[in-house]
Amino acid sequence: MTNTNILISGAGVAGPALAYWLRRRGYTPTVVERAAAPRPGGYAVDFRGAAMTVLERMGILDDIRKCGTTIRDSEVVDTDGRHLVTMPSAIFAGELEVLKSDLTDILYALTKDETEYVFDNSITAIDEDADGVLVSFERGEPRRFDLVVGADGMYSKVRAIAFGDHAKYLHHLGIYNAIFATDNFLNLDYEGIGCQLGPGRTANVFSTRDNTEARASLYFGSDPLDYDRSDVEEQKRIIAAQFAGDGWVIPRLLRDLAASSDLYFTPISQVTMDSWSTGRVVLLGDACACASPLSGRGTSQALIGAYLLAGELATAAGDYEAAFASYENQLRDYVKTNQEGAAEVVAMLFAEPPPQEVFDAMAANPPEADPEFLTLKDY
Ligand SMILES: Cc1cc2nc3c(=O)[nH]c(=O)nc-3n(C[C@H](O)[C@H](O)[C@H](O)COP(=O)(O)OP(=O)(O)OC[C@H]3O[C@@H](n4cnc5c(N)ncnc54)[C@H](O)[C@@H]3O)c2cc1C
Repeated sequence: MTNTNILISGAGVAGPALAYWLRRRGYTPTVVERAAAPRPGGYAVDFRGAAMTVLERMGILDDIRKCGTTIRDSEVVDTDGRHLVTMPSAIFAGELEVLKSDLTDILYALTKDETEYVFDNSITAIDEDADGVLVSFERGEPRRFDLVVGADGMYSKVRAIAFGDHAKYLHHLGIYNAIFATDNFLNLDYEGIGCQLGPGRTANVFSTRDNTEARASLYFGSDPLDYDRSDVEEQKRIIAAQFAGDGWVIPRLLRDLAASSDLYFTPISQVTMDSWSTGRVVLLGDACACASPLSGRGTSQALIGAYLLAGELATAAGDYEAAFASYENQLRDYVKTNQEGAAEVVAMLFAEPPPQEVFDAMAANPPEADPEFLTLKDY
């Protein structure tokens, strides 16, 4: 067997899932993660279609079901709190929904005994030669590997090193999202409630952790903003300014925002690239195919991609270029569909508060499971 020694950058969803499948197929993966430990993530992610099959084949579907948020249908209200429509949970929670931190904990526990994890470190350079790659790190000596996988998210460092600046690949969809914890002051019972405040501005509150907590998720439309991604207080000021003067429970949410210690604030962007690999470097998950949270498919893409990439590497028996091409070919249409779906959601968020018929039509037509063309190959 050749090309067995594989470095994966990123221990989110795609990285540990790939480590699992590579181990099963006889490879030796190493995962380097910038954070000091698997990262907590206060938001929920969901699974649909083929991703459920991948979880089953990994033997963790039951463990994940045990952590399921079991979120039920959600209500949409107007700014005076009057009921507009009930949205089926399939629209926003797929077939199964968990907090991202529960998912990353399960994936890490599944792989940690058979995979070398290097936390608190990051790749700084990748020098490829005929026999492999010499990888340099922020800390420690350079190391040799056969292949490098960038599974390091929307702002992938591997992508920046091997393919060039983020600006070439990241496309802002004109909207921002802020998520933070609040008390369950709306007494939500495994449910959510949302309000469209105006074009591009929505607020949603969901109960979490068996109704002991809740999460607020605010969206607002804006051109790209110039702010310091490490300055949380600056981000809070930006968000508060966007929602100042809004009704519903916004004043209460803004007080919780000011006091929050877990704010997650992100532009809603997508990653589009002509090719997901170059030489011995390949990208996986959000690094090459981010569809944005509004697609509801990012986690599924990461899991399915990990399964396909490991399967193709094993099938191609050393021809990594053929494996990279086949992995990408199988996933591209799925990613394109998911990215288009997210763009449609953005357009809807920017509509004037839709009339009742639009809400009713949405509620009556929850999304199908994955498009049928993504049939998982058996390896
Ligand atoms: C608010 C929000 C809500 C979402 N909701 C959903 C949903 O409902 N359904 C769904 O399917 N998806 C959802 N997503 C998307 C989903 O979280 C991602 O698509 C998925 O996590 C992608 O997995 P990944 O492993 O590619 O990237 P990530 O999970 O982002 O993991 C990347 C990892 O790389 C690490 N890293 C970054 N830089 C470096 C570096 N230089 N060196 C080493 N490591 C590095 C990061 O610390 C992180 O651990 C949501 C995302 C957000 C932000």
